[in-house]
Amino acid sequence: MLADARARMDGLARTPHLHVVRLGEDPGSVSYVRLKDRKAREIGMNSTVHALPEETTEAELLDLVERLNADEDASGILVQLPLPAHVDPNRVIEAISPDKDVDGFHPTGVGRLWTGAEALPPCTPQGIMRMLAFYDIPVAGRRAVVVGRSNIVGKPLAALLLAADATVTIAHSRTPDLGAVTRTADLLFVAVGRPEIVTPDMVREGAVVVDVGVNRVGTTPEGKARLVGDVRADVREVASALTPVPGGVGPLTVAQLLANTVTAAERQQARRAGA
Ligand code: NAP
Repeated sequence: MLADARARMDGLARTPHLHVVRLGEDPGSVSYVRLKDRKAREIGMNSTVHALPEETTEAELLDLVERLNADEDASGILVQLPLPAHVDPNRVIEAISPDKDVDGFHPTGVGRLWTGAEALPPCTPQGIMRMLAFYDIPVAGRRAVVVGRSNIVGKPLAALLLAADATVTIAHSRTPDLGAVTRTADLLFVAVGRPEIVTPDMVREGAVVVDVGVNRVGTTPEGKARLVGDVRADVREVASALTPVPGGVGPLTVAQLLANTVTAAERQQARRAGA
């Protein structure tokens, strides 16, 4: 996916430029933003990180977003979530130009996604779809269960699976007997944020299981965050495939972000040429 993004950059008149904005020093956000910046640079993309203090006001953040919207050199804008409590994330997301919304969270992009129009798809769900395609895992006609209904993962993943002709069920915290639902899945996607909530008895023999969850559960002897997914590791004994945490869905998300930034730059260039 990264090689593909890099190759497409060669066809552009100017190098795509990704702008990532973060507020405060949340350790998860700091490390995710660092990774996005590093991967962008690795493929030769321009990358600017706007690391703003926690106390930055919503008005100041919106002002920065407006400036980046107007900046012809800025191909993609991403505001790292979560934001501090005094900033309304929806207002910020809605302020980003849909053409530069490389996270794919703007309501215009969400509408385009559900109606099948041209959109920049949310990175984690689209990265997952590309992984399924890469491993030749069929989707059409299969029963897919998505656990979690967030705007970032669960809902857009359900939209993409539906568009790919799966029969989709979405489960959430109010779903009674979660195991009875997950056991119907040929393809099971878990995006909850609870360590090891899915156990082998909840998985159908031979199912493909994609673990989106990233949960910090203490520290390693080297002092790094110890991460586990939402799916218990021994699900591997029942499933035909299980994505690892860390190292599974996470890198796909970053790769898709860069792919979206190249796509945004391509569309902006085409519009400038047609203007
Ligand atoms: P979120 O906004 O907190 O949503 C969690 C979802 O899980 C909600 O829909 C919630 O249901 C549901 N849920 C909570 N408890 C449940 C339970 N006991 N049974 C069934 N469903 C339950 O989280 P998110 O942003 O989607 O992220 C989910 C996980 O994925 C997190 O661990 C996050 O760190 C990870 N993540 C990873 C990547 C990556 O690149 N690898 C990207 C994004 C997110 P309700 O709606 O009813 O509350």
